[in-house]
Amino acid sequence: MDVRVYPGPDQVCSILSEWLTLVETRYQEGGFPNHLHFQIVGRDAMAIRTSIAKSSYLGRRLWGEPHLTTPCPVHLGRWSGLLAPNANACGCGGVGWLR
Ligand SMILES: [Zn+2]
Repeated sequence: MDVRVYPGPDQVCSILSEWLTLVETRYQEGGFPNHLHFQIVGRDAMAIRTSIAKSSYLGRRLWGEPHLTTPCPVHLGRWSGLLAPNANACGCGGVGWLR
């Protein structure tokens, strides 16, 4: 029986980063004349990479947290920073959503 092993969060992030680097490099070498979506990704690769790295949502989801649907009554579904005053008192830890 063939058992498929899926990559863990660290590997997924590494694979996405490698893919972005490949697309960015190809874009800088002349782009993707027939693929507008890859032109856009290549052009904006740095912004995409930064957005992924800074995303609280992506980080939590990649490490197994479900999509949260109950907004924190204090932070109202908005990330407020890990050092936000009273971030732990409300129960959301600053992510804006209750677990
Ligand atoms: Zn909160």
